[in-house]
Amino acid sequence: MEIAVELTTYPGLDDRITILRAGDEVDAVFVRTLRYNVLVDTLATPSLCRQALALISDRMGDRPLLVVNSHMDWDHFWGNVALRRDVPIIAHSVALERLRDPSSLKILSEKKHEPRFGEVEIVAPTITFSGETMTLQGGDLTLELIHTPGHTPDHIAVWIPEIRICLAVDAVEFPIPEVWSKDPADLQALCKSLKRIRDLQAQHVVLAHGQSASPAIIDANLRYFSALRDRVAGLSEHESAVAALTEGSRLPLQDFVGMPRDMPSETLAFYERCHRSNLLAALEARNAGVAFI
Ligand SMILES: [Zn+2]
Repeated sequence: MEIAVELTTYPGLDDRITILRAGDEVDAVFVRTLRYNVLVDTLATPSLCRQALALISDRMGDRPLLVVNSHMDWDHFWGNVALRRDVPIIAHSVALERLRDPSSLKILSEKKHEPRFGEVEIVAPTITFSGETMTLQGGDLTLELIHTPGHTPDHIAVWIPEIRICLAVDAVEFPIPEVWSKDPADLQALCKSLKRIRDLQAQHVVLAHGQSASPAIIDANLRYFSALRDRVAGLSEHESAVAALTEGSRLPLQDFVGMPRDMPSETLAFYERCHRSNLLAALEARNAGVAFI
């Protein structure tokens, strides 16, 4: 069934920011500045992206549209194909490396059996930056694109200092973010990105999943990784090996974070998988003597 995109906001959010919500799947964000319209992410399908563009058409004026792809996870950029070919798509340069990897087309071919993904084509970003930040000078608002790897190697968050809003996308997530791989360096990067976003002292931290703009989620995510570190540090060699083999089934997510009682079972299962990825990375870090938080 096709999801209907809705426009929404959060209490106290500046009216130049609009949340584009595709059901429970993902949120994209529209930012109106004096010089540009900026769309941060294009949702999971061309049809959802077209819906989003139609909903915001009355806010566009005659300013040019710039698109930012926060990272190359399907739910955030498969709508790119619905954009006009002359719309610049900005991303971190690592995004192009991800697209060159065969896994990117493999995910598409696996998902193509669902009719809603039938018209998806991979459309790559057209402007990339390779340092830590890139800045869009909107005139009234500045959009600072910050490389915040860890969830994925190409992930960027967007900081708008004039109104103290951070679009954290998937670097911060409720109840927990997921690390890219079990390489301890990715876990280190994720915790570093969380701290970097925390240090911005944003008034609103807009997530792509979890429908929240509460800065408190950053601290909750950091507390989760600290608890994971402490639990794993207390294991004996044998217990650590058993935990890795059983993928942490004896260290359940609910022991680390309070989960909402009304969370759908599918969503709960998803976050349990995220927790297993994080736990395996924490075990690798412990065994390699790498501090990650
Ligand atoms: Zn996502």
